[in-house]
Amino acid sequence: MKIFTFHNVIEDQNYDSFDAGLFTRLSATEFRKAIKYLQSKYNFISLSKMVAALNEGYLIPNAAAITFDDCYHSVIQSAFPVLESFEILATLFAITSYLDSHSITCFKFDQLEIAFRLSKRASIDCTDILPNFQYVNINSVSDKLNCLWNLKNYLKILPKNISDDIFYTILERLKVSEDMIIDYASKHSKYRSMNWNDLCEAKDKGHLIGSHTITHSTLTQLPINEAYAEIVQSRLSIINQLGGDWLPFAYPYGKEEHFSPEIHRIVSSSGYDCAVTTISGVNTIETDKFRMCRFELDQDTCI
Ligand SMILES: [Zn+2]
Repeated sequence: MKIFTFHNVIEDQNYDSFDAGLFTRLSATEFRKAIKYLQSKYNFISLSKMVAALNEGYLIPNAAAITFDDCYHSVIQSAFPVLESFEILATLFAITSYLDSHSITCFKFDQLEIAFRLSKRASIDCTDILPNFQYVNINSVSDKLNCLWNLKNYLKILPKNISDDIFYTILERLKVSEDMIIDYASKHSKYRSMNWNDLCEAKDKGHLIGSHTITHSTLTQLPINEAYAEIVQSRLSIINQLGGDWLPFAYPYGKEEHFSPEIHRIVSSSGYDCAVTTISGVNTIETDKFRMCRFELDQDTCI
């Protein structure tokens, strides 16, 4: 059984070439095409029904589930109507510290992306930051996206304090201030997060809500007590705000290097019903329910 995961889905009129180069963003039209295609091939079920079947030791033919990571607000306008038209119930993985207001710039990587958008520099010196990179051209959108992609993948596997230091160094070298980033984000709704009320409404429609930690830090790069709090406290926040129903977990970034056996042990013993990764693959009766595979869909793979 397959799980397909999406991140941000953006109104067509707000979707630009920068968004198209970021594999985590789809336009509303691309999303509709993707769902229409998938719907012709799969029998969509909820993640909870999939896990219940696995727990009971059987597979549902052609079954697939849909998840959204990070709970971007524009998913409500751009993706929910499509899901409703096909009667699909999804699972939304929320970052609980982002839900108290309509946060706009919580994501360090969204801030970094905005800094690259705004920078007027033709190149930056990454000699002391990125292994194997020196003066990097950032003249064009594709150059900027390439540099951003390499930086993001590198920063994800660094301890948080080092990653934060590099982030501020990059902003300096791009000659973009935090105020400029906040100003840009406040004018572009694609950076906005859902809040608790949005999740409550989504839950009332039948969608499932899961935890994606408190701050979306790479769990293997935190001291173990902080990783423990990210896993346990985010679950309690969701239970306090939305009630104590079936509750899944999604590892931030979700590849093998982003969660350790110790992190897996904490998640599987904290009361969650399952945990999903971003490791590609199908889920079978033998699948570990706390290391479930998902397919990430981007502009190339889903249309
Ligand atoms: Zn995420």
